[in-house]
Amino acid sequence: MDKLIHYPMVIGGELVETGSTDLIDPATGTPFATVALGTIADVDRAVAAAKSAQKDWRKLSYGERSIALLKFADALEAKSDELARLESQNAGKPLKLTTGGDIPFAIDNLRYFASVVRRPEGSAAGEFVGGYTSMTRREPIGVVGAITPWNYPFMMAIWKLGPALAAGNAVVIKPAPNTPVTTIELAKIALEAGLPAGLINVVTGGAEVGEAICTHPDIRMISFTGSTRTGKRIAELASPLVKRVTLELGGKAPFVVFADADIEAAARGAIPAAYMNSGQDCTAATRIYVQNEVFDPFLARFTELTQTIKVGHPMAEDTDIGPLTSETQRLKVHGFVEEARQQGVKIATGGELPAGEGYYYPPTILVEADQAASCVQEEIFGPVVVVNRFSDEAEAIQLANDIPYGLAGSVWTLNVQRAMRMAAALECGTVWVNDHLPIVSEMPHGGFKQSGIGKDMSYYALEEYTIVKHVMFDTTGDQRKAWHSVVFDA
Ligand code: NAD
Repeated sequence: MDKLIHYPMVIGGELVETGSTDLIDPATGTPFATVALGTIADVDRAVAAAKSAQKDWRKLSYGERSIALLKFADALEAKSDELARLESQNAGKPLKLTTGGDIPFAIDNLRYFASVVRRPEGSAAGEFVGGYTSMTRREPIGVVGAITPWNYPFMMAIWKLGPALAAGNAVVIKPAPNTPVTTIELAKIALEAGLPAGLINVVTGGAEVGEAICTHPDIRMISFTGSTRTGKRIAELASPLVKRVTLELGGKAPFVVFADADIEAAARGAIPAAYMNSGQDCTAATRIYVQNEVFDPFLARFTELTQTIKVGHPMAEDTDIGPLTSETQRLKVHGFVEEARQQGVKIATGGELPAGEGYYYPPTILVEADQAASCVQEEIFGPVVVVNRFSDEAEAIQLANDIPYGLAGSVWTLNVQRAMRMAAALECGTVWVNDHLPIVSEMPHGGFKQSGIGKDMSYYALEEYTIVKHVMFDTTGDQRKAWHSVVFDA
């Protein structure tokens, strides 16, 4: 057998070879590469390198940082085909998605932050009390610890690196243990593109390395994307040192179809909304609520379209959805479906574990599950969607919001007033009207309720990675200021 390609970590500009573990191809269930396995000592080394690199990086002008990051983006773009193939192999994503979506969108995100950093927003310098001029400065935070999930490995890494680096920070990033390849590659490309050694450090590993990042005294901020359960643990770990934390957590998005909607558009829109990336998407439409009058025709058309989805090898050109990321994930997804089956929930299509190699799972529609059932309340994170009914707008709002999560949701209606009312009533960070899923670098993404704290993308994300300082100048030169005499006679 050919020797497997090995991916070392990138720390302080060097390739670091601590340990080794297999990486599994989700399409076959067999190893396709090996990766270093980081330790707490590697975290220490990465933080020291980041701290040192950040000292000079923060001194660069906005323009200089911008040019450096735009060069980095160009270098990533030059290798985007290779990055897409690696991402598809490592995460089981269809090549259509990585080449047409994940990689170019992430590069756009990096370019956005490289550009917007040159136009800082904030309150104007001015005289807010007689004899003084005040101004605010937005300063970098220092070393940021970034922890990312396996569903969009490259995109999640860039969503954190873009604003963090543009704002003048250095980063220690830990990708998910099973999908580290493109994060390692991007750190190597950053060095080739001239970014300083130590600015981006990649430490591989699981919870132990993640916890070392969260508790390291020289890491001032934790930027986390992952499950709500891990997010709560991270907030706990960060609290003794009062670290800044941004948490992009789980979701269970409602997709609300009113009788006055374009039903064909809604049924078509529900396909990418529910099944993109095999449903392993925090904003995926996982709870479809349909008004009674159009329930049957919607379900019939959505089921018909679902049955045309091509589940296949990630590298095949016509594959719509690939395998799930791991056998553990596949069994978890199937467990939800089995539980629903035992509860008497009807399955319109899918729901059977396929034979053969790879972690494939068919697009599955569960029909009319109880609102309290785990398939309605919990994040399944696979190509499984529940289609339920509602009678009127008040009930639609009640059902859509009756969930601990609040990341995203959509409303389908041709009534403008209703669309506006629903957009205000849904408790989530993004609401789409007559669509579900598209995102743009200029607009914020982040959760309400247990879907998280803070924003990715947009100017709001840049603010997350900076800290505001008030600087106040005396403009009188008086030795004894008027306000001293309020309390002191001296
Ligand atoms: P996860 O929480 O299991 O793991 C995420 C990361 O945290 C991994 O790198 C993991 O190694 C690390 N980790 C695990 N335990 C840790 C600990 N105790 N301390 C520090 N780090 C630890 O999540 P996952 O299964 O990899 O990803 C799927 C989840 O991510 C879903 O819940 C999904 O909704 C969420 N997600 C959210 C967004 C968003 O923008 N809100 C985007 C993508 C994914």
